[in-house]
Amino acid sequence: MPYPGSAPESPLRVAIIGAGPAGFYTADHLLKNKTLFVEIDMFDRLPTPFGLVRAGVAPDHQKIKSVTRVFDRTAQKPNFRYFGYVELGRHLSVDDLRRHYHQIVYTVGTASARKMGIPGEDLARSHSATEFVGWVNGHPDHRERTFDLTQERVTIVGMGNVALDVARILAKTPAELAKTDIADYALDALSHSRVREIHILARRGPAQAACTIPELKELGELTDAAIFTLPREMLLDDASREMVEKDGQTRRKYNILQSYAAGTNGTGKRRKIVFRFLVSPVQIFDDGHGGVGGMQLMHNRLAVQTGGGIRPEATGEVERLPTGLVFRSIGYRGVPIPGLPFNKRYGIILNAEGRVLNPDHSPRPGEYTAGWIKRGPSGIVGTNKPDALETVKRMLEDLQNGVHLSPEAPQGEAVRELVASRQPHYFTYADWQKLDALETQRGQVQGRPRVKFTRIEEMVAAVKG
Ligand code: NAP
Repeated sequence: MPYPGSAPESPLRVAIIGAGPAGFYTADHLLKNKTLFVEIDMFDRLPTPFGLVRAGVAPDHQKIKSVTRVFDRTAQKPNFRYFGYVELGRHLSVDDLRRHYHQIVYTVGTASARKMGIPGEDLARSHSATEFVGWVNGHPDHRERTFDLTQERVTIVGMGNVALDVARILAKTPAELAKTDIADYALDALSHSRVREIHILARRGPAQAACTIPELKELGELTDAAIFTLPREMLLDDASREMVEKDGQTRRKYNILQSYAAGTNGTGKRRKIVFRFLVSPVQIFDDGHGGVGGMQLMHNRLAVQTGGGIRPEATGEVERLPTGLVFRSIGYRGVPIPGLPFNKRYGIILNAEGRVLNPDHSPRPGEYTAGWIKRGPSGIVGTNKPDALETVKRMLEDLQNGVHLSPEAPQGEAVRELVASRQPHYFTYADWQKLDALETQRGQVQGRPRVKFTRIEEMVAAVKG
């Protein structure tokens, strides 16, 4: 049975919503399939592509950002088009997509931050790490935010790699930051920062820390920040000792943390980063003026669950930690797409191996998902490659079984006209490349990888005149 994509005269038309790593890897897997004739249109609500690689990966991690060269190669393929600054739900609806595509893939990521759900969380100077990361990276949604860097003590809740990114950016010297592509306004604000102490809180112990080894080591190499752990919080219970003995990665991580025990990685440094374990914030105190004044921490012990999981359990002992600025870095959540079934518990699109499901768990023909909005916010950029492959395999299986959408107008030109009528300022990939060249040129003058445009109007003006 012929199916869309099985012959050049009837190409498979795919819409990918979201131009982050999951979107690009999905496009790449489809375009590399030698037996498939496919036309891909990728949409993003921002003019600029690359999702979290541009706006989430820390500005001092340029090596990770260099994956965009791989995405560039995908975008150069003749059957690929980019429509930037086109938002699903604003410029296009899911019904519009159904009229023009056989398959739709949602790769929109997880845009919102999880909340702690404790009193005082909404006080002034209590923020999500997501906002700070977006701000330092010049994300248009976050560029107008302000963070009170006159505070001397900052507390970060959570000990994943995002928490370490926030700590590192707060702890770096202006000279260290000036080599990166951090947004200009953030470089300026951080150059005047009075932050002296950064506390990173984990609710479990050192053997369960969520961060990874390279990020942990990197903190120990900062010019002007010494790292501390508290000896009593480094003591291991039986289950944690077993983890450290049995697992090489956990052992290395533990040993690095141990090496920080007395702040011996640097004397005479201006800033201090303190790793705290077995503590959970239970309240944020008001300083009397509506801002963060301190935190109440509950001390924990570890309990082994049936099934082997290790959970924190409150001991009843509490501690007051004075602090003026709080960042919660406890994970992300997806934002529901109107009209698409959503798994509220996990904050992801309801799906099985990338096939979007109805609330009764029957598959929705022709609709798929990949990346964090499919599996939740875990893994590194490269994790999205196998994740996207799983989705593409299901897409091809369905296609061969005759399961796909039946678009009324499966023509590329019809989509271009529709987009142009709804969003005349849409960005093509060539538009993005112009902006990219301008940013890089601005960077060269300052000896930096790039100086970003951070307002959408400025991006449009720079490219479209
Ligand atoms: P994460 O790695 O899942 O870490 C979340 C942290 O929040 C954990 O320490 C977790 O503790 C803690 N937490 C969760 N709920 C909490 C609560 N209610 N109260 C207190 N603590 C709580 O998430 P992430 O840091 O946002 O990173 C997301 C993903 O991106 C990860 O896979 C990460 O490795 C990746 N990433 C990678 C890089 C890099 O490669 N350089 C950089 C940034 C992000 P428990 O462990 O006890 O649950």
